[in-house]
Amino acid sequence: MTAPVLPFRIGHGYDLHRLEPPPPRGRGRRFVLAGVTFDHDRGPVGHSDGDAAYHALTDALLGALGEPDIGQLFADDDPRWDGEDSGIFLAEAVRRMHAHGYRLGNVDMTVICERPKLSPHKNSMVGNLVRHLGCDPSQVNLKGKTHEKVDAVGEGRAVEVHVVALLSRAEEAG
Ligand code: MG
Repeated sequence: MTAPVLPFRIGHGYDLHRLEPPPPRGRGRRFVLAGVTFDHDRGPVGHSDGDAAYHALTDALLGALGEPDIGQLFADDDPRWDGEDSGIFLAEAVRRMHAHGYRLGNVDMTVICERPKLSPHKNSMVGNLVRHLGCDPSQVNLKGKTHEKVDAVGEGRAVEVHVVALLSRAEEAG
């Protein structure tokens, strides 16, 4: 049976990165979220630049398309992705979305971290997401929450991101 061409497809993405202080005398990892570098005393542990927002959004788009997930496409033991800008993962997911004949409906993202404060950087983060997605700012929503000081996220030892994305068939949206 031929797979049906659906007018809409929905995807969910989730990511968590451990946050650690820089090693003694070593260069610390920069805290990067949605392509924005924050001034913070901890950075994400990860193979690429550890951008949990880009990773979760990439997985939401790939999930909506029924494609392999980010870890399957960009293996975390592949030296090509060591310290790499995670925007290239997101760009690949956007390319696949268009190749499947879909375009973005809307994205809703929730970032959960105790520190640093998201609000001063929210516009820059949304701006980067919009640029990567090639959409209007009204199609991207970003919410910041804390974890009420409990568990690893609440103790500032991790950052967590949830994303849902709705895609629509390009010709029907046009
Ligand atoms: Mg990740």
